[in-house]
Amino acid sequence: MDLIALAVPFFLLLLLIELLVDRLKKTGHYRSNDAINSLSAGVLSTTTGYFTKFLQWMIWGFVLSNFALFDMQRSWFDSSPQGISLWILAAVAWDFCYYWNHRLGHEMSILWAAHAVHHQSEDYNLSTALRQSSSSFLFGWIFYVPLFLLGFPVDVLITVGAINLIYQFWVHTQHIGRMGLLDRILVTPSNHRVHHAQNERYIDKNYGGIFILWDRLFGSFAEEDADEPVIFGVRKPLANWNPLWANFQVYNYLLFDAINTRRWQDKIGIWFRRTGWRPADVNSRFPKRHTDLEKFRKFNPQLSMARRRYVMAQFFVAVLVALFIAEVFAASGARVVLVPCLFLWSQLYTLGLLNEDRLSAVRFEYLRLLVVVPIGFLALDSAIVTMTPAVWSIIASYVLVSALCLRKC
Ligand SMILES: [Zn+2]
Ligand SMILES: [Zn+2]
Repeated sequence: MDLIALAVPFFLLLLLIELLVDRLKKTGHYRSNDAINSLSAGVLSTTTGYFTKFLQWMIWGFVLSNFALFDMQRSWFDSSPQGISLWILAAVAWDFCYYWNHRLGHEMSILWAAHAVHHQSEDYNLSTALRQSSSSFLFGWIFYVPLFLLGFPVDVLITVGAINLIYQFWVHTQHIGRMGLLDRILVTPSNHRVHHAQNERYIDKNYGGIFILWDRLFGSFAEEDADEPVIFGVRKPLANWNPLWANFQVYNYLLFDAINTRRWQDKIGIWFRRTGWRPADVNSRFPKRHTDLEKFRKFNPQLSMARRRYVMAQFFVAVLVALFIAEVFAASGARVVLVPCLFLWSQLYTLGLLNEDRLSAVRFEYLRLLVVVPIGFLALDSAIVTMTPAVWSIIASYVLVSALCLRKC
């Protein structure tokens, strides 16, 4: 049973409720461009995951089969008091590993390059929760190896890992204030808002997944202070709506510095140093200034209403395509979904361009509608859909209606 897949409809429902509350109360926590960018990053992370996540499972499976210290039986994890204690132990152990994964994800440059995606949003709402990296598969698995070394059964770890991830969804909201005692024990909306801040005093704080106790224990806790409202985002802003670029931005900074520094030790060391560290020679030749928070303005290119509606409608189509791909992937595996994923990624890319109001955006969108979509469907595996005249007429209608609407925006 895939708990995360089961949770997705609830995520979307809660997101719509929060959006409705936001509109009714006029709290301004949602901007369509930012929310679409966050959700696009989430869709990208999920769909690229079809081709990358198997790596971590291969490694974990290998460790469990060959190096496990204890032979824990799956039958031990039942509904008896001992079984429940073991479940709790596994969940707490996962959360402990998550804490260190997350902490190093902020404090070491190469790991931050992957995790930064989750923090680029300058809004804070439930869509931010779904804003996930597509490259965390590279190193994130390392932090959970100790659990496989201990010999926890695979499906127990899958379950507690999924619960840990699902738990973190609800804390991405500004509609819930302080929660008293719970703020002292658990990661709550207040605690996690601090984590998403770019204010100096809140940086590198509150890394916990479920329990905030780890932060209290290891000295990384900070309380939300009503006198210093959180400014969300990262200190080197993404400043565009391209979900693909969002995944490369920090790697690009690091690569630039690694190429331009003269010392070979720094070319290698930069990737593993504390986040923000730069070789002295590069720093003096190419100085970088952080955002002045006194003058902070959210990235927010203005669009016509027609353009905004067009992007929202196309994003709705993209979500339907993503849900369809998830179904096909569950039934037939990764090979079959490669073409539809390429189609989806091109759509997310052009939606980003349209949201930025780039000069090339409309041309790219015509290219997508008139070339990428027909070629994409021609290249589709027959295991996904049989291209009957009825299917072609639906596609032709989609292209035609989209192209006509695009002319007006
Ligand atoms: Zn983080
Ligand atoms: Zn978060």
